[in-house]
Amino acid sequence: MIELEKLIRKNVLKLKPYSSARDDFQGTASVYLDANENPYPSEYNRYPDPHQVTLKQKISEIKKVPVSQIFLGNGSDEPIDLLMRAFCEPCVDNVLIPQPTYGMYTVSAEINNVEIKTVKLTPDFDLDVASINKSINAQTKLIFLCSPNNPSGNLLSFEKVKEVITSFKGLVVVDEAYIDFTSQAGFIPLLDQHPNLVVLQTLSKAWGLAAIRLGMCFSNKEIIAVLNKIKPPYNISLLAQQAAEVGLQQEERKNKWVAEILRERNELTYQLATIRSVKKVYPSDANFLLVKIDNAKSVYKKLVEGGIIVRDRSNVILCEDCLRITVGTPAENKALINQLNLL
Ligand SMILES: *Cc1c(COP(=O)(O)O)cnc(C)c1O
Repeated sequence: MIELEKLIRKNVLKLKPYSSARDDFQGTASVYLDANENPYPSEYNRYPDPHQVTLKQKISEIKKVPVSQIFLGNGSDEPIDLLMRAFCEPCVDNVLIPQPTYGMYTVSAEINNVEIKTVKLTPDFDLDVASINKSINAQTKLIFLCSPNNPSGNLLSFEKVKEVITSFKGLVVVDEAYIDFTSQAGFIPLLDQHPNLVVLQTLSKAWGLAAIRLGMCFSNKEIIAVLNKIKPPYNISLLAQQAAEVGLQQEERKNKWVAEILRERNELTYQLATIRSVKKVYPSDANFLLVKIDNAKSVYKKLVEGGIIVRDRSNVILCEDCLRITVGTPAENKALINQLNLL
């Protein structure tokens, strides 16, 4: 067991959460005069379910995780921020973020005035467990591991992630935004053995629902209860809940998209490698490719002039002269290759 009481901030531990009208009375009635809503029927006059029960049940079936171990946020950004706020005392605690990775962990730590310790990933973008162990101290509350990692695209070594989870006394947050593009099961199956494990997934990538902002957080039920305690009461709008329920009914469609994206990822990898200025296409377990190319910055600008936007990552550590390119439709990928061939 982890000593949650020691990890959690004192004020959060003591805090009495906001109790919404929908918390005070649960069940069905014929007259609702408890939430100061507009009584005249329209599609959206009532507050949404603050606990998103129907949606969580659907996610529970798909992910094979009990509802009590699921937290839903306004994108993954919300659980990232709530974890920071629940567990990190500003100016006292710190978080560890191996680099290069997704920028939001750093931004969220900075917003919350939480110190950031960084370690470098290895040149092939895997964990350096020895340097992680050297960098953490008693005030390190969270370690953020992104697998498959953004912007490098690779899965982190399963064994090394497990090693970090097993030895670290704080929480390990494994961000699996791109897990649908790998054949690996990810870390959800390990939740029961590791009470300090938090897994993040999202509907923004493979499920094609970035616009609705729906992030999923899986952990043990004590940690999920902490996040529920401090979240804004109605953090997932009715529109988002409904759209997510509809989207999740279409798992076949998602699987077809993923299969097509994986096919295109192979084709794009092959085509990019034929371009003279391309020095390296990094192996990817995600829906994007990290590409080392001569004069990345000027290539980026020329692509923009031709109406094609990729992500310039050339200023990022270990990503010198690299562009991050999302795998698009066959036509979009062809347009990219054609443009690159003209440069
Ligand atoms: C895209 C992405 C997310 C998704 O964030 P949302 O807020 O759920 O859209 C999370 N983590 C990583 C590493 C990502 O690249």
